[in-house]
Formats: sequence, structure tokens, C-alpha cells
Amino acid sequence: LTRLYAPLTGLANARVEIMSALVSFDRVFEIMDLKPMIVEKPDARPLPAGPLSVAVKDVSFAYPSADQVSLASLEDVAVLDSRQSATVLKGISFTVPAGSTTALVGSSGAGKSTIAQLVSRLYDVEAGSIELGEMNVKDATFASMRSSIGMVTQDGHMFHDTIRNNLLLAAPEASEDEVWDALRRARLEPLVRAMPDGLDTVVGERGYRLSGGERQRMTIARLLLQAPRIVILDEATAALDSTNEAAVQAALAEALQGRTAIIIAHRLSTIRDADSILVVEDGEIIEQGNHYELLELKGRYAELHETQFSRH
Ligand code: ATP
Repeated sequence: LTRLYAPLTGLANARVEIMSALVSFDRVFEIMDLKPMIVEKPDARPLPAGPLSVAVKDVSFAYPSADQVSLASLEDVAVLDSRQSATVLKGISFTVPAGSTTALVGSSGAGKSTIAQLVSRLYDVEAGSIELGEMNVKDATFASMRSSIGMVTQDGHMFHDTIRNNLLLAAPEASEDEVWDALRRARLEPLVRAMPDGLDTVVGERGYRLSGGERQRMTIARLLLQAPRIVILDEATAALDSTNEAAVQAALAEALQGRTAIIIAHRLSTIRDADSILVVEDGEIIEQGNHYELLELKGRYAELHETQFSRH
């Protein structure tokens, strides 16, 4: 049975990955022969127009156990395991006002990425609710969720395809000018102009090798093209060289301008300006405030700050 777990976890991760690349939910389930755990209601409506706030209301959550993620072909085996996985979030509540930035910090495994996944409805909450612009995500159409939420993941994943196709994933209708504009704003224009095939350069494994910072800026360019109202950013843990770091920060600042943002921060230096910082530990919010308020508190945030900056 332990063998069964590994592929299931793998699939769950693949689902997140593919979803963040904006491929249709239905197609993913079709390919994987999975029964969808998340379904669109027959009477689902698009999210409301205009800037969107994010409200997490008394949310508790445990990842589904293997028997709930039943693979059609392995169903009989999968149902044998009825153990419940541990509760990851324990009744958390917070609001991100439309157009503002909230950062999540805390130890590894505290539940930060889980919060981000619930806001994008990769899983459904067990108790409580998630509301975007005051609409419960369970009532929203998948199409409006996909176009309204943009995710920037840690590794800046690029498909083994041309730069053009990688960017158009987010906005299939975008014109050539819009693609170049996004590249310019992501500080990538000179690099792509210098490539022999320009936008038709194939990247990824076996293709043109982009550096970590360049890959991150590509995902930012993709985000700028998608122009979602909500941005969820899982900050990279890997350190970038200072030129790349500065370029990534500048591009990000531009991408977040005027949008509602949730940043999972690993380096505290990047979230000083966040409107609100939540310290998450063991599935609960233990401190909340801006950078200065939290330093003043001399609690967990101040401690994290001390540890990070004394290391450098
Ligand atoms: P990090 O800073 O390391 O990214 P985090 O605060 O984002 O950590 P989460 O990734 O949300 O933490 O994980 C919270 C808990 O949920 C951990 O105990 C983790 O092992 C568990 N977990 C995360 N993803 C899954 C999954 N797909 N299936 C089962 N359990 C999971």
C-alpha cells in the first residue's frame, strides 16, 4: 500500500503544476483517468467584475486520503486505505482587500502553500469558506477562476516549446506586440531579441537553457499577459545572483501593481512593503501586521527576521 501512495502524491502535484499552466481541469482528469474531486456547479456563475478581494473564513483542511483520490483503475486497492490525513489548516481567517498585498511567512510545512491552493480551488475546503469578491469559490465557474487568478510558482516552469507558445498559454488571443510588451516589462526583451530564433526559440529540456532568474521572469511575462485580478506568488527558495534578483523584483513589482496579491515569502527581504504579513505556524495564524508592527511585537516574525539576517 505504501507503493500506492507515491504515485498518488505525484498525481496531486502534477495536477497543481498543470492547473497553474492554465490547462483545462476537465482535460487533466480525462488524461489521468481521475474522478474529479472538484466539480463545477451546474448553476455556477462567473466571479463578479472589478477588483477582487480574497476572504478566507474559518477554514479547516486536511489533504484527501488515498481512498478519496480514487484512481478508476485502482479503485479496489485505493479504498483499502481509509486513514485520514492530518489536519493541515485549523480554522484560519483573513482578508486581502482588493488591490492589496498579503504575505504569508512561517516554517516549512506550516500550511502556506495549502492556503494558496485553496484560494485557487485546487482543493475544496472542509469547513469554512473562501470568497473572491464576496462570491464563494464553490459557486464560481472554472473559466472565470482560471482567467482571474494567476499563479507564479517557485521554479518558473517552462514547457519544452517555443517562447511564444509558452507565453500564449496564458493569453491565446494576445498579439505579437502584446507579447513583446510583456517581455519588455519582465526585463526579458534584450535577451529574446538576441536569440537566433527570437520568439520561436525552443526552451526547456534539450532546448535553450534559461537561468533560474530568466525562467522566473518568463513566468512573470506570462502573468503580465494573462493580467489576472488575483496573483498568487510562491517565491523561489533558491537564491538568485544579484543582477537577476533585482530584475525579478522590478518585474514583479510591475506585475503586482493594482492587483490583489498573496505572496508566500521565503526571503523576508522581499515583503517589507506588503500591506499585511501573516505568520502561519502549524496551520494557524499566530501573528498579523505589517513589517514594522511585527518587529515591534518581538514574537515569531522578529525571530525569523533575526535568523535570516544574521545568516547573511
Ligand atoms: P514550505 O514553506 O516548505 O513550502 P508550507 O508552509 O507551504 O511549507 P504546505 O506545503 O502547505 O506548507 O504543507 C502543509 C502540510 O501539508 C505539510 O505537513 C505537508 O506535508 C502537507 N501536504 C502538502 N501538500 C500535500 C499533498 N498534496 N498531500 C498530502 N499532504 C500534503
